[in-house]
Amino acid sequence: MNVLVIGGAGYIGSHCVRQLSAAGHRAVVLDNLVFGHRAAVGAEVPFYQGDLGDAVFVGQVLEAEKIELVMHFAAFAFVGESVENPLKYYENNLAKPITLLKTMVTHGVGKFVLSSTCATYGVPAELPIVEDMPQNPINPYGQSKLDLENVLRATAVAHGLSFASFRYFNAAGAAQDGSIGEDHDPETHLIPLVIQAAMGQRKSTSIFGTDYPTPDGTCLRDYVHVDDLSRAHIAAIPHLEKPGQQLFYNLGTGKPQSVREVIDTVEKVSGLKVPVQEGPRRPGDPPSLYADSSKAQNELDWKIHHLDLETIIATAWNWHKTHPEGFRE
Ligand code: UDP
Repeated sequence: MNVLVIGGAGYIGSHCVRQLSAAGHRAVVLDNLVFGHRAAVGAEVPFYQGDLGDAVFVGQVLEAEKIELVMHFAAFAFVGESVENPLKYYENNLAKPITLLKTMVTHGVGKFVLSSTCATYGVPAELPIVEDMPQNPINPYGQSKLDLENVLRATAVAHGLSFASFRYFNAAGAAQDGSIGEDHDPETHLIPLVIQAAMGQRKSTSIFGTDYPTPDGTCLRDYVHVDDLSRAHIAAIPHLEKPGQQLFYNLGTGKPQSVREVIDTVEKVSGLKVPVQEGPRRPGDPPSLYADSSKAQNELDWKIHHLDLETIIATAWNWHKTHPEGFRE
């Protein structure tokens, strides 16, 4: 299938492009390179630099490449920034994808896959999280994704769009061969920050809160390997054949891991000491988030290859060790 991957030069998008090609699909990348890296996309993959909100440009790409399905990864995802600058988030994560969906409808492209997020659930009343639990996001980032999910529902009813919305837990790790991995600027995610502290690129790692009601007092999250996330996207493709499909899936391993466990595992994998500073809670962080992803496993036959944190962190370590400056080399 001809698949347009918007944000295909970013962290999750670039891993998905690899998996699409490996599964025999033809991936085409559209990325504005604001956060993405050109070097994250192989030279053999058609690449268009531009913005998803540019209807004329996107329309031309849809036609020229005979696109049948669009995967959308190009969202802003800094929770704190979304609180300070909500309009930026609603514009990029909601208004522009609406323009994209209009363009798809105009050009007769009827299949869509969305990177959604566990942030749409807010602070869950129960754990693990299942898909039909109430969604009450506690920040504009999560709200913008939930709003887009609702736009998709209405578009499916009105225009027959078939879509899958994947609610990611914490994407982590890097390609097995170490050639692509996580490279954000600024970096805010725990695993790369801890690895950079181990490598001496940062003075220390801060633990955001040690007084949570969790076994060791630090937040629990569900770290899922980026290649496992990507494989779910490919597994969804055959389920989007019939018009009007509305699919929602949690993607996580279901294993809660604390901030301290992440730090200990980085030390174990790298053999290096991580300088740690205990700090206050970060506003907007729920104490504990982990998935029940049995729906994706059962309906999509999604298999999790990287179940334990050590294997996931080993792939991240391999990427950072061999690319200390990320893609800027
Ligand atoms: N975290 C931390 N120190 C950091 C960055 C993150 O203690 O420097 C914690 C954060 O509070 C959360 C977990 O690590 O509990 C994962 O945070 P991250 O930003 O990686 O992902 P999020 O869960 O916010 O999507």
